Amino acid sequence: APLTEADASSLAWDKMDGLLPAAVQDAATGRLLMLGYMDRDALAATLSSGFATFYSRSKGRLWMKGETSGNRLAVRSVHEDCDGDALLVRAAPEGPTCHLGTTSCFGGDENGPAWLAELAAIVRDRAASGDETSYTRRLLAEGPAKIAQKVGEEGVEVALAGVTRDAAGCVEETADLLYHLTVLMEARGYGWEDVIAVLKRRHQAG
Ligand code: AMP
Ligand code: ZN
Ligand code: ZN
Ligand code: ZN
Repeated sequence: APLTEADASSLAWDKMDGLLPAAVQDAATGRLLMLGYMDRDALAATLSSGFATFYSRSKGRLWMKGETSGNRLAVRSVHEDCDGDALLVRAAPEGPTCHLGTTSCFGGDENGPAWLAELAAIVRDRAASGDETSYTRRLLAEGPAKIAQKVGEEGVEVALAGVTRDAAGCVEETADLLYHLTVLMEARGYGWEDVIAVLKRRHQAG
């Protein structure tokens, strides 16, 4: 269960000299964003404010991530690890988490499947943007039937590529399909996490 302010006193503060490492994970994508340290006050501030706050050893004070840059981490939950000496913060980043301007402090590029969740978030942003030049926004405005037709076409193109083209061609067509599928999913109000939950359930049943 997520930590509440009442649980904080049972953590292994003494063993850790009052400072627990806190890994911050993007709640939507699962991506590791940064690692910081929390003392009791930082954890209390995190839980009461809803924004990830650390104890900065270099600053010698509490530091809310984003206090000057604006790139705060809106906290969805905080969990302790198995023996209460480390924390996992699940958060929605309001901008790039690393002060170098990248999404994560651990490398700039994400080419794993978790990026599909970032793509879904970008599609959602475009839908809300009102940007007339956005292909995504126009596609969404045309409605599910039109988007579904595009998914069908791209599906056929993937199938054809699978027998007629080299691997690079298959990659291009698969990217087209996944993009249009992501737009259809947004139009119909479900996400990759819903699809993955079904796949996991089937695997466990099998
Ligand atoms: P911010 O908290 O984003 O307003 O940034 C203020 C300062 O905190 C920066 O100038 C950095 O010194 C430091 N900082 C910001 N983000 C990080 C991070 N992800 N990891 C470590 N230090 C950071
Ligand atoms: Zn531990
Ligand atoms: Zn960084
Ligand atoms: Zn295509």
